[in-house]
This record gives sequence, structure tokens and C-alpha cells, in this order.
Amino acid sequence: MKLSFYGADQCVTGSCHCLEVNGKKILVDCGLQQGRDEVDNQSLPFAPGSIDYLLVTHAHIDHSGRIPMLVKQGFKGRILTTRLTAELLNIMLLDSAHIQEQDAEWKNRKGERSGAAHVEPLYTIEDAQRVQEYVTTCEYGQVVELCEGVEVEFVDAGHLLGSACIAMDLKEGDVKKRIVFSGDLGNIKQPIIRDPVHFQGADYVVMESTYGDRNHTEVWSYTDDLAKLIDETMARGGNVIIPSFAVGRTQELLYFIREIKDQHMVKSNPDFPVYIDSPLAKRATTIFTGDLQGYLDDDALKLVKDGTHMFNFTNLRMTETSEESKALNEDRTPKVIISASGMCDAGRIRHHLKHNLWRPECTVVFVGYQGEGTLGRHLLEGAKSVKLFGEEIAVKAQIVNFHGLSSHADRDHLLGWIQDFKAPKPEHVFVVHGDREVAPFFAQTLCGLGFEAHAPQYTEVYDLAANRQIEVGYLPERKAKPFDGAPKTSSAYQSLVSVGEMLMELIRRSRGRDNKSLASFADSLRKLIEKWDV
Ligand SMILES: [Zn+2]
Repeated sequence: MKLSFYGADQCVTGSCHCLEVNGKKILVDCGLQQGRDEVDNQSLPFAPGSIDYLLVTHAHIDHSGRIPMLVKQGFKGRILTTRLTAELLNIMLLDSAHIQEQDAEWKNRKGERSGAAHVEPLYTIEDAQRVQEYVTTCEYGQVVELCEGVEVEFVDAGHLLGSACIAMDLKEGDVKKRIVFSGDLGNIKQPIIRDPVHFQGADYVVMESTYGDRNHTEVWSYTDDLAKLIDETMARGGNVIIPSFAVGRTQELLYFIREIKDQHMVKSNPDFPVYIDSPLAKRATTIFTGDLQGYLDDDALKLVKDGTHMFNFTNLRMTETSEESKALNEDRTPKVIISASGMCDAGRIRHHLKHNLWRPECTVVFVGYQGEGTLGRHLLEGAKSVKLFGEEIAVKAQIVNFHGLSSHADRDHLLGWIQDFKAPKPEHVFVVHGDREVAPFFAQTLCGLGFEAHAPQYTEVYDLAANRQIEVGYLPERKAKPFDGAPKTSSAYQSLVSVGEMLMELIRRSRGRDNKSLASFADSLRKLIEKWDV
């Protein structure tokens, strides 16, 4: 009974873990490495054909984005997930495949001129379409007997429509263990979906730690603040531009705008037009308005029962073609435009920024995290002008950052969630899906609270029957430089961490050296650790 760590190990993307029970291999998530975490999406550290089952916690690409590649490279097993995750996966993987194809095409066009080798996309639309052949679905709370000695239950994680924690009861010979994978844990009081479910106990927990070092501080007044901004901008005759992730966040925005319209909160223009300019967001919104029985929180359920359409209101339009998108900028009627990508690094939003950033009467509202190096971050940091499509655009519009919404549980809620595991209290907690500076720190916090915990490294293997590590992992070298996002650590600490990484790199390179020098190396490190472990 083994657990291997194949992704989101001391980083926040590429989630992938593998359980081995009774000779069967069960993968939990198969996410894409993104941004600064990207090392090598092409290669998986296992043979895809050897995997018997894949369980998917939720549809976000950092948990699901390599499934088409898994299938392309020989996976023949069964994929199990919740009904709504399966629906969202369908559209998100196609969208991701489209991006992969476009990327490869762009690189090849560029490469042709410089004589570079031909690039194949990571996977194609056809590969993404094939994923559906392998998917079976379940509902929250339904116990599924996956194979001999393995029972699986998906439990609401409150993070995205259909998102789940996965609880598994394992039996191999006389050994019985219960393990819970948190997936991504949701923030409390998000609209539409429910809060994360807490568990009573488990022998092992694999938990995320995205916000393991901080709490959300913002006060919950999203509708009021958004209404005020729209009102002021409309009164000035400007547009409100909202860069937003197409799935989840866009539907939350629609939910709030419907409230704003119902309550006539925008006095200057009560029936202001709203455009969703993202084909993926349009398709996702259709799923959010389908059969959501068993997936909604009480408020949303009440709306549905009362016959209120959660996302529908007068003057809402969804554009599909790029001609429709372009036409939005020719019409000067003040409007709200919600478009992707959420960090402005690609997609139609860049056209809207080009046409609106220079207009002082307009407002750009950021509703999600902006990673380092993205156009969104640049604007938030007060850029006076930006380059878009080869043109220098002055930034005169009002730039606003709304921290109000986060789809992740913060530190206190993560701690509250894990501390409810009492019967039994976990033998060990594996802390994953947190930055290099955050995951080990959160594991330390858990140790301080009486848990046995650590943040595994890539390719680490753990024996669950014996409760011990049997193979150490390593931290892959990152391509991109780390962003100075959330974790506020001193530069002295950061330099200590990077020296530590250099040390691990040296240890790996020392493999194969003679035993005498390896023993002497280990001895001097041990002395160093003893000196500093006070
Ligand atoms: Zn997620």
C-alpha cells in the first residue's frame, strides 16, 4: 500500500498523486504545470498505460490539464469524478487543447523563419474529445467500490461547481487504512456553491496549503462595492472592464450583477448592458444553469425553487465570434464587459484593454489573483502605459482591485478543517499544493498542533501500511523566477531556501560518487544540521 507524489509538491500546479493497492494503480488528479511551476509537461514520471484508475477532484486545469495527454500516451483505465466536474471537464479540456494547438502553431510559424525544429502540441482537440470515453460519474456521498479493497467517496470541497475531496477506504491483506485527499478546499460563504464538508477522521490526509500562511482579510460587501463602481463609471459615460476566469468567477459575477439589477442599485443606469465576451464562459454558464440538484447552497437552491434564473437578467448578452467581440468597441454605449483571461496575459480581454485603458471615464476591475509578470499585475502596480498589439497605450482608466472573492480556504479554515479529523486522528498529514515557502511552513504549523506532517517532494514514495517514507523525492528546478506573491518572507530567508535547493541539487549530482566521499559529505551535513537545529 503505497502513495507516490507526482505533482503539486511544494508548488501550486500540476496536482498528481498515485496510490498503489492490491496491485492496482489509482491516480488522484493529473494537472498541468503552469506558469513558474512548469518544468516539463510532456513527461509523466510513470507509464500512463500502467494506471488503472484516475479520480479527478475538480475541473481546474492545474488538476486536470494533462488528462488528454495521459490518454494520448496510453492510459486505458477508468476515470471517475462527480457529474458536474465531468461536464466542466468536457469544455475546459477542449479549451485547453485549443490553446495547446494555437501555441504550437505560433511557435512553428516563428520557428520556420529561424529554422527551429517543428513543435507538436501537448495534445490536440481530438485527444481531449477522447477523454470522455473513459469517464464515469458519481454524485456526492455515493460510495463507489472501485476495485478489490478500494471504496471511494466524493465529498463536497466547496471550491468550484462539482469540486470534491476524495475519501478512500483501503484494504490490503489485514491492513485497513482510510485516506482523504482534500483536493482544493473552498472558501466559506461563496455564492452558488456550498462550504467545504469537514471529516470526522482518517488515517492519512493529503491536504492543500495554498493559503497556509495567511488569512483573507477583506470584508464581504461585494455587491455594494461593485454596484458603486458601476454606478460611478456609468455616470461618467465609461465602460467597466472586468478580466475574469471563465469558469466559476464569471458566474459568481453574474450572480452579483443579477442582485445589483434586482435591487436597482445602479441609479445612473439601472438597466446597464452586460456582455460576457468569452466563448468558454458562455459554455460554462450553460452548465451552471443545467441540472444542479445536489450541488447548490441554500440561497441558490431557494432561487431555483422560486423560479429565479441565477444568472439571467435584462440586457445580458453573450458574444461568440471575434466579429461580435470587436463590435463591442465600436459602440460607445456605457457597458460592463466581462472577458478572459483573468490575468490579461491572453485572450479577448487584451482588445478591450486596448480600447478602454486610455479613456479616463472607464474602470478596469480585477477580481482575482494576478501573478507576477502578467499584464494584470503590471496594471495593478500602477503602470502609466502598457504595450498592447505593438501599440503603446496610456493608462488613464481607473484601476481597481477587488480582493473580496477567493475560491480557496484561508489559513484558519485549513486549520479548522484538519483539526476536525479526530476519530481517528491522522497518523500522518501530507501537505501539498502550496508554494515552496508555504507548504513546509504549513506542515510545521501542523506539527506544532500535535500532528505528524511534512510537505513531500516530487517522486517521493510513502509506505502507508508501515507509515514511513521509502523513497525521497526532489524539488525540480523551475524555469521561471518565483513571483513575490503572497508569502512575505525576508530576503535572508529566501536566500537560505535557495542555498538549500542548491544543496539538494548537489546531492543528486553526487549519486554514483565513491562511498567514502558520500559518507564524509553526509557526515559534514549532519554536523551542520546539529549546529543549527536549536
Ligand atoms: Zn482549483
